[in-house]
Amino acid sequence: MSGIYIHIPFCKQACHYCDFHFSTSLKKKEPVLKALKKELILRKDELGGATIETIYFGGGTPSLLTTDEILDLVGTVQVNYAVIEDPEITLEANPDDLSLERIKTLAGSPVNRLSIGVQSFFEKDLKLMNRAHNAQEARQVLDWATQYFKNISIDLIYGIPGLTDQEWQENIRIALASGVPHISSYALTVEPKTALANFVAKGIVPEVDDEQAQRQFLQLVQELESKDFVNYEISNFGKAGYFSKNNTAYWLGKSYLGIGPSAHSFNGTHRGWNVRNNQTYVKAIEANELPIEIEELSVKDRYNEYVMTGLRTVWGISLERIANEFGHNYAKYAKMQAQKYVAEHLLFLEVDILRATRKGKFLVDGIASDLFMVKL
Ligand code: SF4
Repeated sequence: MSGIYIHIPFCKQACHYCDFHFSTSLKKKEPVLKALKKELILRKDELGGATIETIYFGGGTPSLLTTDEILDLVGTVQVNYAVIEDPEITLEANPDDLSLERIKTLAGSPVNRLSIGVQSFFEKDLKLMNRAHNAQEARQVLDWATQYFKNISIDLIYGIPGLTDQEWQENIRIALASGVPHISSYALTVEPKTALANFVAKGIVPEVDDEQAQRQFLQLVQELESKDFVNYEISNFGKAGYFSKNNTAYWLGKSYLGIGPSAHSFNGTHRGWNVRNNQTYVKAIEANELPIEIEELSVKDRYNEYVMTGLRTVWGISLERIANEFGHNYAKYAKMQAQKYVAEHLLFLEVDILRATRKGKFLVDGIASDLFMVKL
């Protein structure tokens, strides 16, 4: 089982916090789309005929494509890969691209999951982050989308400077009232070289407050778990039957193909990164070359990745699997390093599975790095 990720590297405007790869000029849309289709064909044998269960349009802003352009890419996948009968096809979409007409057209297409970038229902937060939509659009779109799609996820951001706990509670309340079965939620982070980093450095925007982020994360976990959402990955909450199949496959270490500029691929032992530049990407593909950098993962790298992704999920990490896949010394090491966190109730060990406790979740990246094998 495998998945295909297609990166659409265009956005209407740059959100102040974003460090993904995108261009705000749509001039190169045609050649990029042509190159995406060609890359799909050039790499069709890479997954060794594995069945494709998920297709994910991420970005950038995939909802900037017309429904016909999306269909064309889905068709190219279907013709060249062994796609299961009813694959999960996700489209990341921004509220300002989703008119009622657009939602209806998408609902009649093979796209069966929408991931909507709401981020906040408060105007001041959307302005601070330079989102292209407003609070009214965010609410309206959820009302329309839930009439035509069952499988909807929304993104919400916490820890935004000036976002009070009461306002955050209200964001959660509106999200729950909309009836969406999946919520992805991230702490606002200040990435280097973003507009937000610049504003923080100049004192225009206050620093992000870790304690505020931690409180709001716990608020979120508490609220959503009490409403039957499972926090199946640190940043992801879904009702039964609505976990993202695409992302779950990443976290469980399944192979996937990443198509498009800046997209990542993984085949179980190697990781690949496509070039992060639209023009260089198009030129290479036009010349029948793959603009990809490939890294072979050592046993140590694979163990570290398993620890990092596994501890962030509800499935945790299995010491038995570590012993079988990476060696007994790795399992012994993981258990030894985990001891102090178990004693501090940040991790818990159940039979041979290590998982983060609610308190440990917010600190899990630091805990995982302490379990990393740095030398051997
Ligand atoms: S729409 Fe998404 S990808 Fe585009 S700038 Fe905003 S956060 Fe980044």
